[in-house]
Amino acid sequence: MKRARHARIVATLGPASRSPGMVKTLAQAGVDVFRLNFSHGSHDDHAAALKAVRGAEMALKRPLGVLADLQGPKLRLGRFRDVEIDIKPGHKMRFDLDPEPGDEKRVQMPHPEIFRALREGMLLLLDDGRVRLRVGKRSDDWADVTVESGSKLSDRKGVAVPEAVIPVSALTPKDREDLAFALRIGVDWVALSFVQKAEDMAELKRLVNGKAACLAKIEKPQALNELEAILDYSDGVMVARGDLGVELDPEEVPVAQKAIIRAARHRGVPVIVATQMLESMTSAPAPTRAEATDVANAVYEGADALMLSAETASGDYPVEAVTMMNRIMERVERDPVWPSLMDAEHAGMDDIDADALVAAARKAGEAQSTACIVVFTTLGGTARRMARERPLHTVLALTPNPDTARRLALVWGLEPRLGRQPDSLEQVTDDAVNGAMDYGLAQPGQRILILAGTPFGAPGAANLLRLAHAPAKMKRRK
Ligand code: PGA
Ligand code: MN
Repeated sequence: MKRARHARIVATLGPASRSPGMVKTLAQAGVDVFRLNFSHGSHDDHAAALKAVRGAEMALKRPLGVLADLQGPKLRLGRFRDVEIDIKPGHKMRFDLDPEPGDEKRVQMPHPEIFRALREGMLLLLDDGRVRLRVGKRSDDWADVTVESGSKLSDRKGVAVPEAVIPVSALTPKDREDLAFALRIGVDWVALSFVQKAEDMAELKRLVNGKAACLAKIEKPQALNELEAILDYSDGVMVARGDLGVELDPEEVPVAQKAIIRAARHRGVPVIVATQMLESMTSAPAPTRAEATDVANAVYEGADALMLSAETASGDYPVEAVTMMNRIMERVERDPVWPSLMDAEHAGMDDIDADALVAAARKAGEAQSTACIVVFTTLGGTARRMARERPLHTVLALTPNPDTARRLALVWGLEPRLGRQPDSLEQVTDDAVNGAMDYGLAQPGQRILILAGTPFGAPGAANLLRLAHAPAKMKRRK
């Protein structure tokens, strides 16, 4: 099963979607990477979800990535006895430190550091800004608040305090436990929320120690100012528009999105555009036309991947949301202006061997009878450099390493597949040609461009660009 598009889909798993049958259906509908959101759900839930993804991967014979999204120092409410409460402007209640489930009168806000930073008259933004509260009387372990706007509050909604700096560390004790768990069950990517500075990612990388790829969620204005330094320590990056949009004015969000995508593409670091992409599909079977346009624009911008959150985690139409996202993305990539747009923002060549080769492969690929590009890759470096070129052909990334294949599932235009480690030029050519034909990427007689590294079997950057032809008569291995 191959994708008829270059941009990738990330879908969040949750109560609406983590059963094995649903995970498989979602993967068939177009999901490339599944997100486990550690802000919600138990470790057992996430372990079951990961197992379901690995099962779907076996059934569909296609590597699927799993991304563990750590909550980070996000400030959140506790839980309510009835999951949610109705509120209206003028409603008064108390936030405190008592873990007892809340009601209309009080609820837990489990962060002593917020209570210490709050002052009477300050503004609190909850649930991505949908609820605005004003602080009244307070102490170091409680605060009385009055609703200014909003209609409901529910379990674990986020709290932002735009008028105060809350001193919190990049990884909370919960994040450290979740991270150890995620690495133990074998996720492929780890994302850190509320990154503020490069050191936050450096710390994550130290803890992860190569067991997964590390992704920075850009959702604080501070992170935008430090973007280049953060990218130095990131294998991937997310435009996390939900929380970013709480602290930035609306008109700043699209500008930030473009800046993050441009910076990431320039470095060849995969970038995900996330949140509210098809938001109305959480409760309706079709999107608004503005949402369809938002999805399309992210593809036109050359983002590696687009993400669904509540749409697939808890919405009423998870399969429809993925199907719709897939349709919009494929439609954009059939637009005759799409290739020129991919080229317009084309990142320049860095003075490294891999870039000399991938640039040549991209150029050669423009010739009409070229079918695809095949990259032999051990750790994924050459494949990512190839994707950075935004070639119009599909890139078959053959690797003997399942971890590499799964990590590459997030990257624009790559079809990662497992293959043996070839040890001769003959094997390289055979595996590339057979792979291209088996996976439906080449027709008889078409040209196949092959990137590999010599000496064969030794890790290192590709240094060989070879041209082969799919045999004129169908010759299939299987
Ligand atoms: P979240 O991150 O869904 O974990 O909050 C994404 C965002 O803030 O946009
Ligand atoms: Mn967020």
